[in-house]
Amino acid sequence: MASGDSLLDYMATQTINLGTIIHNYTICRQLAGGTECAGLVKADAYGMGIKHVAPALFHEANCRIFFVANFAEALKLRQILPEAVIYVLNGIFSSHVDFFISHNLRPVLNDLAQVILWQRISPENRPACAIHFDTGINRLGLSPKETAQFINDINLRKGLDISLIMSHLACSDDPEDPMNARQLADFKTITRSFPDIPASLANSGGILLGPDYHFDLVRPGLLMFGGNPSKGAMPKNIKIPFKILGKILQIRTIGAGQSVGYGATWTAKQPRHIATINIGYADGYSQMFNNCGWAYIKGVKVPVVGRVSMDMIAVDVTDVNPQEIGPECDVELLGPHITLEMAAEVSTLSQYEILTGVRERYQRIYIKNS
Ligand SMILES: *Cc1c(COP(=O)(O)O)cnc(C)c1O
Repeated sequence: MASGDSLLDYMATQTINLGTIIHNYTICRQLAGGTECAGLVKADAYGMGIKHVAPALFHEANCRIFFVANFAEALKLRQILPEAVIYVLNGIFSSHVDFFISHNLRPVLNDLAQVILWQRISPENRPACAIHFDTGINRLGLSPKETAQFINDINLRKGLDISLIMSHLACSDDPEDPMNARQLADFKTITRSFPDIPASLANSGGILLGPDYHFDLVRPGLLMFGGNPSKGAMPKNIKIPFKILGKILQIRTIGAGQSVGYGATWTAKQPRHIATINIGYADGYSQMFNNCGWAYIKGVKVPVVGRVSMDMIAVDVTDVNPQEIGPECDVELLGPHITLEMAAEVSTLSQYEILTGVRERYQRIYIKNS
């Protein structure tokens, strides 16, 4: 029910527990055996709000190294954390060089052209850089041919301040996949040519693959935010730091044969109580949840029925005590009871896509107790 007299009390909310994110970050570090641990805060900290998440990690968890996807995210983060080390995963365009220098951003150099671009800059104010070697994901990073060139031609790294060498795993969600061991072996070989430079291979899934994958720095994202990056069981100390709550707008009783929602894709077989909730696909609640999502009301898990509309969904609340529910009543769509893993499974969306799809229409509420 509404807790105060603010108009915002009637909006759907995304509650984010910063204490739990800090807790999960600490668990990531422990799982990585105390290896240095970066904070991955791309895509607005996986939809949790970089403005709140990054300072919490920096000031309260002693996280000093951050990765963002692009230059715009890096500028935003630099304003929030003047002292942090910031790496930009997408690399660098020549037109952005001056900004990288003036805002002390470290590019992740993804091909030899970027290496040469960075090398040509006068070293006085030039930030350090990371070199990304592609060991099989074929997305970004020096190709095997470029890697060989970079290793053999000492001129290519002359004068560069390389603070990190890295690669990225393609299949870390599946411990059984032989690609992990292949990428590990290739990356190990590369690290032998750079014995004095810190190395990094593991994202969240990579952390769970074990100590061989940890090197000098791990790069968790999803695990910090309570997702399970692996097909295996969730590490038991990881907690869910967010909750998405909608509110019941209306409850109606429908008879057998009546349908719900656009396209009339769901039809009641017996009389049912249907609650309409104030969250739809414009909030990021995807139509992939049509007729298969779940919500949680007053201790009962209830199914989404019919199609997700722009601003609403309908859930079948027949199993909930009607005395306990009515308009304004809170409904969990994602959180401790409807977990990301569960939502991903029914919708076939990835946990990453569900999290980063959360739109700003929610009223975001930050809390700090762990
Ligand atoms: C996004 C990303 C990560 C973090 O991945 P998670 O699976 O969320 O832990 C790590 N490294 C790179 C290069 C990435 O792009």
